[in-house]
Amino acid sequence: MTDILFRKVKGSADLYAKELSSLLGDLKSPFKKGDAVGIKLHWGEKGNHSYLPPDYAREIAQWLHKQGTKPFVFDTTALYSGGRRIASDSLKTAQEHGYTEKFLGCPVIIADGPEGRDVADIPAGFKHFKTVQVASVVEKTDGFVIFSHFKGHMAAVFGGAIKNISMGFASRAQKQRMHSDARPYMKKEKCTRCGICVEVCPSGAARPDDEGYPIYDHDTCIGCAQCIALCPEMALKILWNTEDKIFQEKLIETAAAVWKRIAGRAVMINALINIATECDCLPGEHPMMSPDLGFMGGYHPVEIDAESLNLIGAELFERAHPNMSWQRQFEYARETGFYPHDPLRKRT
Ligand code: SF4
Ligand code: SF4
Repeated sequence: MTDILFRKVKGSADLYAKELSSLLGDLKSPFKKGDAVGIKLHWGEKGNHSYLPPDYAREIAQWLHKQGTKPFVFDTTALYSGGRRIASDSLKTAQEHGYTEKFLGCPVIIADGPEGRDVADIPAGFKHFKTVQVASVVEKTDGFVIFSHFKGHMAAVFGGAIKNISMGFASRAQKQRMHSDARPYMKKEKCTRCGICVEVCPSGAARPDDEGYPIYDHDTCIGCAQCIALCPEMALKILWNTEDKIFQEKLIETAAAVWKRIAGRAVMINALINIATECDCLPGEHPMMSPDLGFMGGYHPVEIDAESLNLIGAELFERAHPNMSWQRQFEYARETGFYPHDPLRKRT
C-alpha cells in the first residue's frame, strides 16, 4: 500500500477541486509530451443525482494539458435503454450534466463509437473468458487516467477503478456476457403495477399478467438489469442463475485483460465523494452511506479500490448490499495474478 496517495476534502464542495489539484501534483505521471490521454469516467445516467460534477474532470484535463499531452474524456455505450445506450443520447446526457468540451477544455467522446461497434477483442485466457471485447480506444490511445467515483453498486457491491476498467471499457456484448447470470425477481407486495419495467425491457422478457403484475421470461431475459434499475418502488431484486460470485469473477477477468493492455501507461484516481449506496447508472436519488472523504491516487485498480473500501468501511457497503460476494473480486484478482497480494489483509 505504499503507492497510494490521499487528500482529505474539507470545507464546501467548491473547494474540493483544490485538493484534487494538490494530489495530481504528487502523482507520478507515466505520460510523455504529445501523448493522447483518455480520462475514463462516468458522467451519470439521466435522472441520477449523485454523479460527480465535471469540475474534477476539468482539473485532470488541465493537469494533462500542463504536461503537453492531449487529453480527452470518454465513456462507452450502456447496455440498457435510458440516457446512455446510444452514443448521441449519452453525449446529450453528458452535456446536460456539464461534461462539455467548452467547460472541460478537451473533447468528450464515446469510445466504442456511435453504434457501439468500434471495439476490439483482446486476449484474456481465463476460465470464463478466453478473450474480452472492449472499446478499441484501449489499443489506440497512449495513456489513461482512470477517474472513478467510488460508491455502492447493486451487483458488484462497490464500484470504483476495477469496475471502471471492466464494465466501463467493455463493449455492449461484453457487458451482456458479464451480466448474463442475473435475472429480476419481484417482491409482489411492493409492486404498484405501473408497467415501467415492461416498457423499458429491451428483450420483451417482461410482460404484464392478467392482473397487470409483470412476469419475466427468464429464457428471453438478457440480464441487463434495466427493469431493476428503473422500478420506482424498488420492487425488483437480482436473482442470480448461479452464485453472484460468477459475476464478481467475470468483472475481474475483464478488468485484468484490460489491465494487461494499459498497465504502465495509466494512473488511477478514486473520488470518495457523494458516496451513495447505488451506482451513477441508476436514475433517482440514493442515500449516502458516508460523508465525503477525499481523493485517492494510485497505480493499480485493485490496490486503490481495496484502500478506498478500507477507508470508507467495507461494513457500510455490506449493510447496503447484504449477502453478496464482493470479497471474491479480491480473492480472484489474487488467484488470476491480476493483483497477487491480499490488499484487505488485517483490514476486514
Ligand atoms: S426482464 Fe431481463 S431483459 Fe428485461 S429489463 Fe429486466 S433484466 Fe433486462
Ligand atoms: S416497475 Fe416495479 S412497480 Fe412498476 S410494474 Fe414493474 S415491478 Fe411493479
